[in-house]
Amino acid sequence: MHDALIVGAGFSGLEAARRLAPDHDVIVLEAADRPGGRVLSHTFANGDETDLGGQWVGPGQDRLYGLIAAMGFSTWPLWDEGDHLVRAGGLKRYRGTIPNLSVPVLLDLNRALSRFEAMARQLDPASPWTHAKAHVWDRMTVGDFLRRYTFTAPAREMFTVGIGAVFCAEPHELSLLHALFYARSGRSLDALLSVTGGAQQDRVHGSMGALAQAVAGTLGDRVHYGQPVRAIGWDASGVSVQTGSQSFKAKRVILALPPSQALGIRFDPALPAGRDALWRRMPAGACIKCVAQYDRPFWRDSGLSGQAVGGELAVRVTFDNTERGKSAGQLLGFIEGEEARRWSAVSAETRREAVLDAFASFFGDAARSPIDYADKDWTSDPWTRGCYAAIMGPGVWTTLGEDLRRPVGPLHVAGTETAIHGFGYIEGALEAGARAADEVRAALT
Ligand SMILES: Cc1cc2nc3c(=O)[nH]c(=O)nc-3n(C[C@H](O)[C@H](O)[C@H](O)COP(=O)(O)OP(=O)(O)OC[C@H]3O[C@@H](n4cnc5c(N)ncnc54)[C@H](O)[C@@H]3O)c2cc1C
Repeated sequence: MHDALIVGAGFSGLEAARRLAPDHDVIVLEAADRPGGRVLSHTFANGDETDLGGQWVGPGQDRLYGLIAAMGFSTWPLWDEGDHLVRAGGLKRYRGTIPNLSVPVLLDLNRALSRFEAMARQLDPASPWTHAKAHVWDRMTVGDFLRRYTFTAPAREMFTVGIGAVFCAEPHELSLLHALFYARSGRSLDALLSVTGGAQQDRVHGSMGALAQAVAGTLGDRVHYGQPVRAIGWDASGVSVQTGSQSFKAKRVILALPPSQALGIRFDPALPAGRDALWRRMPAGACIKCVAQYDRPFWRDSGLSGQAVGGELAVRVTFDNTERGKSAGQLLGFIEGEEARRWSAVSAETRREAVLDAFASFFGDAARSPIDYADKDWTSDPWTRGCYAAIMGPGVWTTLGEDLRRPVGPLHVAGTETAIHGFGYIEGALEAGARAADEVRAALT
């Protein structure tokens, strides 16, 4: 009988294991054949690395910076020089976070953003349902907020692109309270949208995926790959965990996987109704991450930053993902929300052409001729089925939110979807893993 068994070797499960391993008998069961979960590195044909899952770390994400340093990794700042592009009607250049739009549209957008930020600041991220207006805000969607507080269509469209970039979901899918909580949990919406000073500030030399591999390496053979957990039963004598091929016994279990995936496990006794209802109302957002590699970052010759936003094509948000010190350039684009499900259904070749069309619409025909290309459709990943994180529609936080972190018997919950700070981010995954490890340690003593 193990002291603790952790389901999932993403950053959350790995952090929980790292904390328990020195003084407890702990094992990690991971369905896939690799660690990292929603963090995944890719090696281009020329040997350069990139990340097809989570990659950035920014100010306020102190646990992640600490882990990077502790594992002997270092960071480099994303390229953030030159003009950004916005496609709203025509293509325009701008600097800073707010696109170059007409004065009435800018005023409208700024007013809506300021109102959103002011509302978010009022929330306690540990219990957003306790705010005096929580019930009102939780019955509205972000779409309702935009209809009420924006007056011009371009401002609404820009806000919608920003929401897509942060949540991989559409405004009508999201409870306003959830969106406000998420912004508060990640410092502010502005921080979540920004490069320098924000959540997109730094990348890890070698890749975030390599960091996950390194952390898993410190746990040695405690991590078992290719072990999808199918059933968990528990009684006074402990917990028994069944994978496709083996069974394990432990005193305590930490579930460190997205809610939609936890629902794939059969629990005996059945989960309490509140927990089951909560997880069923936490579907993942949808995203395809696309990286084209060029012989050099050619857009910089024209004074462009590689950051572009807007338009009607598959990719509406791009970044210059070129690693410092490498000669080959990388353009990164996201296909998000409903578009991601649409472009998930086509062939890889058709999707690649659509992505390069979108890149060319911002950066010219040279973008059609990469030396290499890679994308990752997270909506189709069998152990994730979407990203960046779970979303919540109207009414979920105020009716079921209190169950989010509550253990069920000897079962503890981790994963970024249970974080107070950094919900949806690697930072939140680490916080949740550490919190669940503390719970288990306390229960074992
Ligand atoms: C495209 C993309 C871009 C992102 N960008 C960023 C970013 O730049 N910065 C940032 O901080 N965050 C980013 N994120 C979010 C970040 O990656 C996640 O918040 C974080 O990695 C979640 O970690 P986790 O351990 O909570 O969950 P996961 O990483 O999802 O780990 C859960 C693990 O459980 C395993 N599993 C699932 N079902 C079972 C089962 N039945 N049995 C056993 N194992 C199972 C999975 O295989 C997985 O390894 C991004 C995510 C994606 C996909």
